[in-house]
Amino acid sequence: MENPIGNLINQLSRLPGIGEKTAQRLAYYIIELDEARVKDLTDSITRAKENSGFCSICNNITDKDPCEICSNDSRNKKLICVVEQPKDVMAIERGKKYKGLYHVLHGDIISSVDGDEKIKKLIERIRDNEVEEIILTFTPNASGQASIIYLSELLKPLGIKVTKIAYGLPYGSDMDFFDKDTINIAIANRTEI
Ligand SMILES: [Zn+2]
Repeated sequence: MENPIGNLINQLSRLPGIGEKTAQRLAYYIIELDEARVKDLTDSITRAKENSGFCSICNNITDKDPCEICSNDSRNKKLICVVEQPKDVMAIERGKKYKGLYHVLHGDIISSVDGDEKIKKLIERIRDNEVEEIILTFTPNASGQASIIYLSELLKPLGIKVTKIAYGLPYGSDMDFFDKDTINIAIANRTEI
């Protein structure tokens, strides 16, 4: 049975962080908007999707390949920060202190789709660019800890420094929620594994 409003609520409730109630509120809000604003909203979603892809170097979401960060000559290419999600790159970039590059796994070691492929690519980047340090920034939970151990054992034999950020961050917390000072301090106080 076609139920347009129910369908919209259902679609919205499938977005991360949006529960049933918020989905309902957003759906009714959208329905009450004028047509031009609804069109702007749907067009912006379609355009963002059509013009975005993954950086062939760091796997971050980007509208050009290589991405802004990988193609920026002033970034320190000897330093790569391994993150779980594109939003972690945004969180670190908000701090404006970190000047190295990134490698986005799209999940931790256990949940990453094509994780093996992404790690193989990381190792190639380390070899090809004489990378000196890898910073691991996994979420402080059980699979994040497992990811840190797994990657440090894999990367240390390559003769590079492997560090993890200093979590004064609560166990199980998401990096996205921290302000720029907290993230900058966590990176500045990173420790060698
Ligand atoms: Zn990139």
